Amino acid sequence: MPLTRRHFIILAASVASTTVLSNESRADAPVLSESDPTAQALGYKTDATKVDKTKFSHYQSGQTCANCQLYQGKPGSANGPCPTYGGKLVDAKGWCNAYVKKT
Ligand code: SF4
Repeated sequence: MPLTRRHFIILAASVASTTVLSNESRADAPVLSESDPTAQALGYKTDATKVDKTKFSHYQSGQTCANCQLYQGKPGSANGPCPTYGGKLVDAKGWCNAYVKKT
């Protein structure tokens, strides 16, 4: 599913807020909840296999936060910050519709 204008605006706002927060420590960042409004809009799941594939046809098997270009967690970590959600911690096995394959 292509990003809608609304999703783009949410993403732009998230990236802008992340820029402001970029110099702050992320060690105590809050964990992103699936019930977070932005997470719901982008179909975030802590377990990528639970993604609603009908609603988010962009998802492909094998895609997880750990192999997303936006993921800022250390390799092998259980979770890590994501700029899409203002630096909140996302699950390494998670996924959302803002996924960008790491190159
Ligand atoms: Fe995970 Fe990437 Fe979505 Fe962030 S943008 S929640 S790292 S899939």
